[in-house]
Amino acid sequence: MHTQLRENLDRVRETIAEAAKASGRVADDVCLIGVTKYVDTETTAALLELGCRDLGESRPQQLWSKSEALADQSPRWHMIGHLQRNKAKRTIPLLSVLHSGDSLRLLQAAHDEWPHSQPLRALIEVNISGDAAKHGFTPTEIAPALRQIAALSHLKIVGLMGMASREGGRDQAQHDFAALRELRDKLRVDCPDEITLDELSMGMSHDFDLAIREGATMVRVGSTLFEGVDGGR
Ligand SMILES: *Cc1c(COP(=O)(O)O)cnc(C)c1O
Repeated sequence: MHTQLRENLDRVRETIAEAAKASGRVADDVCLIGVTKYVDTETTAALLELGCRDLGESRPQQLWSKSEALADQSPRWHMIGHLQRNKAKRTIPLLSVLHSGDSLRLLQAAHDEWPHSQPLRALIEVNISGDAAKHGFTPTEIAPALRQIAALSHLKIVGLMGMASREGGRDQAQHDFAALRELRDKLRVDCPDEITLDELSMGMSHDFDLAIREGATMVRVGSTLFEGVDGGR
């Protein structure tokens, strides 16, 4: 099992390195987040042992149980899915990065529940594809909300997160990623000092190479890592 997982991880890292190079960067400029929502705690531990220290979960309950079981290995947990405010109290303190900052109310809740002295790194989730089923700020909602977001002193807003449209294949995905980068560039022009927008969390198994070419600094990769590996939930 570990052999297959190691091969998959190596392949993902190679792809990251190639895409980073193509965009004038190096592999270390891109953070690989291993999305473990499909696998059990043992397989998650195996991924950690292989050196993938940044782990993503989209469901709070899974994050709670894995974070407890793997506390000794101290992975960095990334919350990448929609977080209901009534689950913030238990989830937020465990996080290294909140990717799914999809509303002002949730960002406020994250601020309120953050117990540590260093601020929580958080991203503003943007609904780039305009898909009604997706969470996130619309591109035009962000600029007017930036002052209020900047006032949340327990958060350090470091960038934007987005997902490509389901339809339209790789061409559409590339277009969506470029749109997120351009939105970031536009927002930067008149951004409060408390907010930096250096990070772009975009790209999943089928399109993380494209996302990196368009400037992603964090990619969230799940299914490709676990292809052919036992331990699915
Ligand atoms: C599941 C998930 C991923 C990983 O998707 P794969 O296609 O399996 O790589 C990335 N981001 C989010 C928000 C997810 O929910």
